[in-house]
Amino acid sequence: NYLFELNNVSKVFKNKTQALSDVTLSIKKGEIISIIGPSGSGKSTLLRCLNLMEQPTSGTIFFEGELLNIKNKNLNLIRQKIGMVFQSFNLFPHLSVLENITIAPKLIHKIEINEANTLASDLLKKVGLEEKVNSYPNQLSGGQQQRIAIARSLAMNPDVILFDEPTSALDPEMVGEVLKVIRGLSDSGMTLIIVTHEMQFAKEVSSRVIFMDQGKVIADDTPENIFDAP
Ligand code: ADP
Ligand code: ADP
Repeated sequence: NYLFELNNVSKVFKNKTQALSDVTLSIKKGEIISIIGPSGSGKSTLLRCLNLMEQPTSGTIFFEGELLNIKNKNLNLIRQKIGMVFQSFNLFPHLSVLENITIAPKLIHKIEINEANTLASDLLKKVGLEEKVNSYPNQLSGGQQQRIAIARSLAMNPDVILFDEPTSALDPEMVGEVLKVIRGLSDSGMTLIIVTHEMQFAKEVSSRVIFMDQGKVIADDTPENIFDAP
């Protein structure tokens, strides 16, 4: 039973750029997948198709057995199960850390304020930022903001989290703290799909590496076979 199942997925943009070309792959629960490849190879487009920010031009994507389609009436429910962490953090600037983390579970899952506050403090513990509960995003470093973005994504209790180059916008000294949090998630059994340029991280943390080039999956194998091939 697969979490995601992609069959012959292609994406051609209006300007005729072919971003994805006949991508077929399946992703199981609990897999930690790194997606690597040169700039422009279709990695972001693939992630955006997985969370329905883009619709493939042809081919099908199933999530938990359900066809992903912009017109699906369960679209919001499906999106809640698919967490997303962006390169640029995307926190709400006028909300505190606490509010950033609790706004979606309060509005969407209708959880009560006490439960929301407990949830936030548990998640802040997980990302090592308990003391920042009342801070605002502009008072935090990039690495801290990204860790809050991860906590916010976890607050919706997703079945999978998609990461789009989560460390690319960070100063080098902050990359490690974010990768450590992601590594912690991988130990907890959460399904993670990570577009990354951090090859050492991909090698150490992933259970599987997908290498893309020109919209195609060129290799899809264990990190050992991808990185240690002769
Ligand atoms: P929207 O209209 O929903 O804002 P766009 O299709 O304009 O979305 O852009 C989606 C993403 O793709 C953005 O991050 C944008 O920077 C990027 N993008 C848009 N056009 C191009 C392009 N021709 N080449 C590369 N990236 C692009
Ligand atoms: P990667 O994430 O591997 O850098 P992308 O998925 O962002 O690659 O882009 C794949 C190709 O699609 C690139 O040629 C890019 O310029 C193009 N592209 C991405 N988004 C758009 C868009 N909204 N409109 C047109 N072309 C796009």
